[in-house]
Amino acid sequence: MSRSRKKKRNEVSLRNLTRNTTWVGFVVFVFASLCIYVVFAAAFSLFLGYFFESKVRTETEKASSIVETLEASGISGEEGFEAIRQRVDMLGHDYYITDENKNNVLFSKGEPEFFDSGSNLNIVIADSRFRLYSNSSIGFFVTENGDESAVDLVQLIRYLKDNPADKLSFGDLNNNIATVPFWVEMSVMDGKYHIFIKLDVDLGLTDVFYVIAFFGVISAIMMIVMIVLIVNAIVNAVRRQKTIKLLFTDPVTKGHNWLWFSFYGNQLIRKRRNRNRTYAVVTIDVVKYSNFCICHSLSEGEEMLYRISEILEKNRIKKEYIAHAAGSSFALLLKYSDEERIKKRVTHIIEQLQQISDEHKFNFHAGIAVVDVSVSSEKDKKGRVIIDIEKEYNYACAARDELAGSDDSGVVLLDDKMIADQKWIDIVHEKQQAALDNEEFLIYYQPKYNPQNDELTGAEALIRWQSPEYGFVTPNRIIPIFEQNGFITKIDHYMIRHVARDQKRWLDAGYKCVPVSVNVSRAHFIEDDLAEQIRDLVDSEGCPHEYIEIELTESAFFDDKKALLTTIGRLKGYGFAVSMDDFGSGYSSLNSLKDMPLDVLKLDAEFFRGEQGDGRGQIVVAEAIKLAKYLNMRTVAEGVEMREQVDFLAEQGCDMIQGYFYAKPMPGSDYEERMKQGSSAEEIISETVNASGTGNISETENISEEVNAEDAEKKE
Ligand code: C2E
Ligand code: CA
Ligand code: CA
Repeated sequence: MSRSRKKKRNEVSLRNLTRNTTWVGFVVFVFASLCIYVVFAAAFSLFLGYFFESKVRTETEKASSIVETLEASGISGEEGFEAIRQRVDMLGHDYYITDENKNNVLFSKGEPEFFDSGSNLNIVIADSRFRLYSNSSIGFFVTENGDESAVDLVQLIRYLKDNPADKLSFGDLNNNIATVPFWVEMSVMDGKYHIFIKLDVDLGLTDVFYVIAFFGVISAIMMIVMIVLIVNAIVNAVRRQKTIKLLFTDPVTKGHNWLWFSFYGNQLIRKRRNRNRTYAVVTIDVVKYSNFCICHSLSEGEEMLYRISEILEKNRIKKEYIAHAAGSSFALLLKYSDEERIKKRVTHIIEQLQQISDEHKFNFHAGIAVVDVSVSSEKDKKGRVIIDIEKEYNYACAARDELAGSDDSGVVLLDDKMIADQKWIDIVHEKQQAALDNEEFLIYYQPKYNPQNDELTGAEALIRWQSPEYGFVTPNRIIPIFEQNGFITKIDHYMIRHVARDQKRWLDAGYKCVPVSVNVSRAHFIEDDLAEQIRDLVDSEGCPHEYIEIELTESAFFDDKKALLTTIGRLKGYGFAVSMDDFGSGYSSLNSLKDMPLDVLKLDAEFFRGEQGDGRGQIVVAEAIKLAKYLNMRTVAEGVEMREQVDFLAEQGCDMIQGYFYAKPMPGSDYEERMKQGSSAEEIISETVNASGTGNISETENISEEVNAEDAEKKE
C-alpha cells in the first residue's frame, strides 16, 4: 500500500476514534435491551407453551386411548356406538356425540360450551389428529396458524387472572391450584360419529414452581447480560478517552503532538465555513538544540522544550493550534491577515522565547507558509479544496531551511521559488515508484580513460530520468530528494541490477568490457548485509564481480566507521573494487584513507575548476596522487575538461580521467561504440578537437540532454 493511501486510512481511523459516539452508544444500548427483552419473552413463552401443551396432550391421550381400544375390538353399528358412549360416559366428563355432519346431537351430558368457529386447533397423537376447541367460558385455545397446535398463553394468563380462585377447583389430590377446561373432538367409526369431550388441565404447585424457577433463571441471565453490557460500554468509553489523550499528548511538553496538530489542523482548514479564510502554518525550531543537550543534559533540553511550549500556548488565540512537531521543532497554525503582521507576530513570539533562560541564549528559526484556502489549487472531484497540513508544514520547513547555517534568530516567509522547489519535491515523491516500475530511469555511462595512452579503462554509471511528463531530468534534481526520502536505496539497487545486466550482455556479445562503477548512497550503510545484497544482485544477472565497482561518497566515511570498514572488507572479499568518490570535496578524509582498504581514489572535480594560476592546486593534486600510490590505490580525476589538465595528470601518473575532455555521460548505445573503439579514443579526440575546437566528444548527445533538462525545468 502506498504511503498516501496509508495516510488516508490512518486519518479515517483517527476520525472514527475521535468521533463523538454517545448517541450511537445509546442507540446500541436500546437496541441490545430490546433484543434481550424479545429473547426473554420468546424463551418464556416457548417454555410455557411447551409445558402447557404437554399437559393438554396427556389428557387428550387418555381419552383417545379408550375410544381407540374399543374401535380396535371391531364392534360396529348400534352396538359399537353404545359401547363407545358408555366408555366415554365412564370417564365422568361432560361430552356430546354428533352424527357424521355434526348437525345432529345424538347424545349429550352437560352443556356443550365451546367455540365451534374456526378458532380450534389440532393436536396430533400417534398419527391421529384431534381437534381441540376453546371453552366458550374461557376462550384461551386460539389457534392462529391453522393446523399447528398452539396454546395462547396470554389468553391463559388472562383467564387465570380473571377467574377468582373460588371459580377454580382447589385442594385436589395433587396440590391442584387450578383446573383449566378444554374440549377435544374425536371422530369414531370412520367419521360416522364425532365425540366432543370436555377435559381438564390440572395445574399443580410443582408446575407453578417449575414455571417460577424457569422465569427466575432466565431473568437472572438477562440481568447479568444487561449489567455486562452496561459495564462494558462504560469501560470502553473511558478507555477510548484515555487512548485518545495518550495518542495526542506529547511526552516531552505534555501539550499536543504532531498527530494531534495534523489531524485537527486538517479538519480546521478543510471546514466548509473556513473556505474563505487564510492561515499561516509556522514552524519554529530551536537553533543548535542538540548542542545544548550535549553541553547540559537531555532532561534540561526537554525542560526547555516544555517552557517553550508554555510560551507558545500563551501566545495562542482562539481557533489556533500549537504542537510539538518533532525534535526541537514546534508547529503552529495561526490566523493570517497579511505578510507584515504575521512576520511581526512570529518575531514577537521569538523575542519572548529568547528570554526563556537567564544562563543560556537560545536562538530560533521560523518558517511561515501561507495557506489561502480560497485559492488553493488542489481540489477533489467534487470541487472541495484538499489541503494537507503536513505538506504546508513542509513548505514552512523549507522556508525555515533558508536560515540553515545561521546561528541568529530569524523568520522566513515562503516565496515563489521555495514553493516551486517544494512542489518539485512533492512531484518526485509522488512519481518515483511509478517511474521505477516503468523503467523510466536511464543508465548513462561516462567513460574513464587512461591519459597515458587514451585507452578506455572504466566507466561510471549515472542516472537520468526520462519522464513522460517532465522530460529529461538530471540527477542533481532527483538524487538529493531520493536521499532525503529514502528512495535512494531502491535507486541504487536498480542501478546495480541494470549495470550488471548490461555488462553481462556486452560480455556475451564479445565487447571488450571494462569495470563500471556504481554509486552507492551512504543511506545504505545502516544495512548490515549491504555487501551480500550487492553480490546477490550482480549474481542474479550473471555478471562477473570484477566488472562492477562500488563508489562510496567521501561523506559516508564520517558515519559509522566500523560498519563501513566491515562492508568494504566484504565487498572486496566478493571481488568488487571499492572507490572513494569526491575525495577532497568535503572535510579532510585523510584519516579514512589510513583505515579503509580502498582500491580507487576519485579526485573531486573541484580540483580542476577555475584558473590554475599559482600552481597551488597542482601541488595538492600531485601530492594526492602520490599519496594514493603509496597506499596502493589507483586514481581517477573527475571533471577534467582541458588538454593541459590531462597532460598534467598524465605526468603525475594519474591512472584514469573521467571528464568532458574525453566524454560526457552517454546512453548505453553510445557507450557500446566507445567499447568497440577501445584504445582508439585518441582518434575520436583529435576528430572532435579538429571539428569543434574543444575536447568535448559527445556534443550532439549532450546538447539534446541539456535542452531536455531545460524543458523539464520549464514544465514544472
Ligand atoms: P558524481 O558521482 O560525482 O558524478 C560525476 C558527476 O560529474 C556527473 O554528474 C558527471 O556528469 C559530472 N561530470 C563528469 N565530468 C565532468 C566534467 O568534465 N565537467 C563537468 N562540469 N561535470 C562533469 P551527474 O551525472 O549530473 O551526477 C551528479 C551526481 O548525482 C553524481 O555525482 C552522483 O553524486 C549523483 N548520482 C548520479 N547518478 C547516481 C546514481 O545512480 N546513484 C546515486 N546514489 N547517485 C547518483
Ligand atoms: Ca560518483
Ligand atoms: Ca564524484
